[in-house]
Amino acid sequence: MLFGKHYLMAPGPTAVPESVLLEAAKPIIHHRTPDFSQILWSVSDDLKKIFKTRNPVYILAASGTGAMEFALVNTCSNGDRVLVVVGGKFGERWLQIAKAYGLDAVVYEVEWGSAPIPEKIGEYLEEHPDIKAVFTTLFETSTGTTYDIERIAKYVRHSGAILVVDAVSGIAACDLQMDSWGVDIVVASSQKAFMLPPGLSFVAFSKKAFGLVEKSNLPSYYFSVSGYKDAYLSNTTPFTPAVSLVVQLKESLSMILEEGIDNVISRHALLASATRAAVKGVGLELFSSNPGNVCTAVKVPEGIDGEKLLSRIKDKYKVTISGGQGKLKGKILRIAHLGYAYAFDVIVAISALEMALKDEGYPVELGSGVRAAELVLREGK
Ligand code: PMP
Repeated sequence: MLFGKHYLMAPGPTAVPESVLLEAAKPIIHHRTPDFSQILWSVSDDLKKIFKTRNPVYILAASGTGAMEFALVNTCSNGDRVLVVVGGKFGERWLQIAKAYGLDAVVYEVEWGSAPIPEKIGEYLEEHPDIKAVFTTLFETSTGTTYDIERIAKYVRHSGAILVVDAVSGIAACDLQMDSWGVDIVVASSQKAFMLPPGLSFVAFSKKAFGLVEKSNLPSYYFSVSGYKDAYLSNTTPFTPAVSLVVQLKESLSMILEEGIDNVISRHALLASATRAAVKGVGLELFSSNPGNVCTAVKVPEGIDGEKLLSRIKDKYKVTISGGQGKLKGKILRIAHLGYAYAFDVIVAISALEMALKDEGYPVELGSGVRAAELVLREGK
């Protein structure tokens, strides 16, 4: 079989390094032991370096959406007015959670593929001074778009509202400085830049966010932050944690911190830049007007069936990239360069894209994208 090796290049779940996989093969340790507490202490400390915060980072046995719900139920109350930035599927996810809990959501609708304008968020806050929280996204994975959280934070930090950022795909791929930018809640998840299997999520609250916790009246039990807060102080977890994933987290965090968090982010930026050059080299267009480090969204060219192209890349060439979600289904491809991804991963994805385009009858010069990527990667800048 010529194309027999599989490559996972979706924006989550991402590939897991062998040393991290092997940690899961070790015998389970009990979670109420000094050994586990030691691991928990170490990963909690390391997570703060990734979040760039001095606040505790809680570890949940839930996917990223669970941590989003955790952020909202612990800080909001029934009928609260909140601002939700909706420019893709994950902005929609915030809106759906807000609606599920009976919040009064003001929606800042952003064209899919564009980033919100920070000044506009300031205008919404002036127009509705009763807004309690602003829910937004660091990297809108569904459109391949980076949001300028640093500038958004400048408008939110002097208002009465908290800023809640879904950094599920963005953290450790894009820069995010929770404390110095003044972000109040950051939500992240294991199956992205953390190079882990799915199943864990992470959430940190600022002092300002904790100020809302006591007033919040939404129902929660498993996701009540008070249990996590108390357990954190005793180096334990309120419920049975996903023990193996936490053990794996220790290994992946030490890989990230050994490389250096800012070097990891620069690597993502370089892979993204090489991918964008390659896409243009092939003669295709980017979907996003503000692309970024997690995945590159590419418009499916006129006359090509996007679903067929995606299946060919996956079934014939064994490279799993992603297509469009929701209203973008069949219209875009999303090539991830996230987590355990290096220079040759970009070459693999672009080569598969070129060959599949040729198979589908698109006039592509084989090697044009690969060459463009090589020029960027070889320079390393
Ligand atoms: N937010 C963003 C930006 C995401 O990329 C994802 C997952 N693709 C989620 C939220 C949802 O996370 P999960 O599927 O882990 O619940």
